Amino acid sequence: MALRIIIGLGLTVIAFAIAGRRLWWLYRLAMSGQPAPERVEQLRSHPGRGAETQVTEVFGQRKLLQWTVPGVAHFLTFWGFIILILTIIEAYGDLFSKTFAIPGIGHWAVIGFIEDLFAVAVLVGIVAFSVIRLPNNPKSEGRKSRFSGSHTSAAWFVLLMIFGVIATLLIYRGAQINTGDFPYAHGAFASQIVGHWLAPLSKGANMAIETTFVLGQLAVILGFLAFLVYSKHLHIAIAPLNVLFSRRPNGLRDLQPMRSNGKVLDFEEADPDTDIFGLGKIEDLTWKGMLDLGTCTECGRCQSQCPAWVTGKPLSPKMLILDLRDHAFAKAPYLLAGSDEARDSLPDAVKQEAERPLVASSEDGGVIDPDVLWSCTNCGACVHECPVDIEHIDHITSMRRHQVLIESAFPQEASGMLKNLENKGDPWGMGESKRAEWMTELDFEVPVARGKIGDDVEYLFWVGCAGALEDRAKKTTKAIAELLHTAGVSFAVLGPAETCTGDPARRMGNEFVFSMLAQQNIETLNEAGAKKVIASCPHCFNTIANEYPQLGGNYEVIHHTQLLARLVEEGKLKPVNPIEEKITYHDPCFLGRHNRVFTPPREIMEQVPGVQAQEMHRCKERGFCCGAGGARMWMEERIGKRINTERIEEALGTDPDTISTGCPYCMVMLGDAIAAKKSSGEAKETLEVVDVAQLLARSVGKPAQPTPSAEAATD
Ligand code: SF4
Ligand code: SF4
Repeated sequence: MALRIIIGLGLTVIAFAIAGRRLWWLYRLAMSGQPAPERVEQLRSHPGRGAETQVTEVFGQRKLLQWTVPGVAHFLTFWGFIILILTIIEAYGDLFSKTFAIPGIGHWAVIGFIEDLFAVAVLVGIVAFSVIRLPNNPKSEGRKSRFSGSHTSAAWFVLLMIFGVIATLLIYRGAQINTGDFPYAHGAFASQIVGHWLAPLSKGANMAIETTFVLGQLAVILGFLAFLVYSKHLHIAIAPLNVLFSRRPNGLRDLQPMRSNGKVLDFEEADPDTDIFGLGKIEDLTWKGMLDLGTCTECGRCQSQCPAWVTGKPLSPKMLILDLRDHAFAKAPYLLAGSDEARDSLPDAVKQEAERPLVASSEDGGVIDPDVLWSCTNCGACVHECPVDIEHIDHITSMRRHQVLIESAFPQEASGMLKNLENKGDPWGMGESKRAEWMTELDFEVPVARGKIGDDVEYLFWVGCAGALEDRAKKTTKAIAELLHTAGVSFAVLGPAETCTGDPARRMGNEFVFSMLAQQNIETLNEAGAKKVIASCPHCFNTIANEYPQLGGNYEVIHHTQLLARLVEEGKLKPVNPIEEKITYHDPCFLGRHNRVFTPPREIMEQVPGVQAQEMHRCKERGFCCGAGGARMWMEERIGKRINTERIEEALGTDPDTISTGCPYCMVMLGDAIAAKKSSGEAKETLEVVDVAQLLARSVGKPAQPTPSAEAATD
C-alpha cells in the first residue's frame, strides 16, 4: 500500500511540476504582449455573455458541432473527460484504500453506469477520430487535407494516450470487481464485462492487475497532462479562456480600431518611435493575441474553407497562426530575458529568431510571407469555422497596418486606389461630380439632401462608390431607387456629398485614410440628420453599421435586400411579371457570414413568379468568397486559380440561367468570371449576374404612389 501511495503521489508531483513550469512560462510569454483592457472591460460589463459562451461553446461545443461527425466525436470525448474526473478521484482514493468510494455518491449504481457510459463514449470518439484522420492524410491528400501542415504524429500519440486512459480504467475496475473492492454493485456495465474476462484468474492475480493498472491509469493521465502543455492539446487547458475573452458577438463584422499600449491610437498625437502601429513584432500582439496562438488545435477547419488556400495560394489561416506561434515560442527566451546581459548571453539561434522580420519573403527570413498576408479576402470563413474563437482577420489586418503605415510595403497596384480615396473620395478617382449621374437616367427625381433632410424623409439611401460610379452596379442602384419610389418609401441621397466609406482603405491596412473618410462621412450624415440608412453595398453596410459607431456615428442601417423583402411582405411591392429562370444565389461574405443576412434575398426570389431558386453546395454560412473583399478587388491575383473562377464553376454546376447576388463587388467579380467562361464556351451566352433588386424590379409593375419631391424632402 505504501509503495502504491509513494509511486502515485510521486508521479503526480513530477507531472504537476513539469506542467506547472510550462504553464508559468506560457503565462509569462502571454503577459509579455500588450495590454488589452477592452477585453477585460467587455467581460466586466457583459458577464452574462461570457457565461453564455462558456455554456454554448465550451460545454455545448456549438462550433465544433458545425461539423457533425467530428463534432459529435469531440463532444463525446470532451464530456467523457469531464465525467471521468470522478474516476480520477476514485483512482487516487484507491491508492489509500482499496475499498474507497466517493463520499455520498460513491456506491450509486447510476454513477457507476454514467462513468462506464462515458468511458465507452470516449472510445467511440477516438475510433471516429481515427476513421476521420486516416483518409485525410496530408501525405496522400496534400493540401486538400485539412491536416496538411498540422502535427499529425502528436495527434495520433494523443489518441493512443486517450485509449490508454480508458483501457487502464476498465481493466483496473474489472479486476476490482473480482477482488470485491469495486464500489458499484450494479450499473458499471463495461467494467463488469472486463471483470467477467478476468474472472478466471485468481484473486491474487486480480489484486496485482488492479494495483498495476490503477497506477498505470494515473501514469497515463499524468503523462497526458505533462504532454498536453507542450503540444497542440494545450487547447484543452486554455481554449475556455480564449473563448471567454474573444470579441463579441465574434471576430467578424467590424475591424477593431488601432490600439497602442492598450489605448486607441490618436493619429494626431501618435509617435512612431514610442507607439505601436499594427503588428510589426510578435510582442506587439496583445496577451489575447498570444492566447490565440497557443489555443490553435491544428484542426484545419479554417484552412479547408479558406478561398485563398482552396485556390492554391500560400495563405492558410491555420499555418499563419502556427507560424506566428512557432516564432513566439522561439523568440520567448529573448522576450522573457530580464536584462540586456541576459539577452546577450542567449544562444545565437534565439538571437537570430529575435531579429527575424515578422513580414518578409522567406529569402529575407520573414516569419510571414507577403504573399500570405496579401492573399486574404477578409471573407471570414476562418473565424466562422474556428472552434476556439481565434481572430485571424484581426491579426492579418494588424500586420497589414504595420506594413502600410510604417513600412510602406504593400501590393503597389493598390496604391492608385489609396491615392484616389485620399484625393477624390472614391477608389476610381472619378470625383464627386460623377456621383449624381445615375439619377439622370431615371424618369423621376431623386431627392438629394443638401443640409438637413426633411422630417418626412424616412431613409437616407447610401449609394456607395460602386453603386454611383460602376456601370454594372449603377443598374442595381437604379433598380433600388425605382422600387423604393414604386413602394412609396420616402428617401433621399447624399449625391456629391457622399464619399467612400473607407472600407477598402481599412481592409488594406490604411487606418489613417479610413478614419479621415469615416469622420468626413459621419459629419455629413449627422448634418443631414440621418437616422435610418439603406446601403446597397454590403461593405458600406458593414462599415456604417458596425465600424462607424467606433467613431461616434450611430445609425440604423439596413441592406436593400432586407428592406425590399419587407416591402414585398407588406404588399407594397408586388412581383407580378414571371421570370421563368433557374437562378442561383451567391451569398456576399460581408452580407451573409459577417452580418448574417441570409434570408431576405432568398425571400425576394421566392416571391418572384416563375423563379426556380437553387443553391450551390457552399452557401449561407459556408458561402464561398468572390475574391474581392479585404481590398483584394484592387490587387492582382497572380498566384493559383482565380477565386471568382472557382466560385463561378461551382455556380455553373447548378446549370443556372441567371446568377443573383446582393453586392456590387460580387457582381463585378462574378461578371468577369462569367465573361471568361463565355469566351471559352463553358457558359451559355445568355448567362448573366444580377442583383436581387434587379430581378425584383423586372417583376414588379408600375409605381403605386409618388415619393416626396426634392424640395419637400430637403431643407
Ligand atoms: S478571412 Fe477568408 S481569405 Fe482570409 S484567411 Fe480567413 S478564410 Fe482565408
Ligand atoms: S485556427 Fe481554429 S480552425 Fe484553424 S486550425 Fe486552429 S483551431 Fe482549427
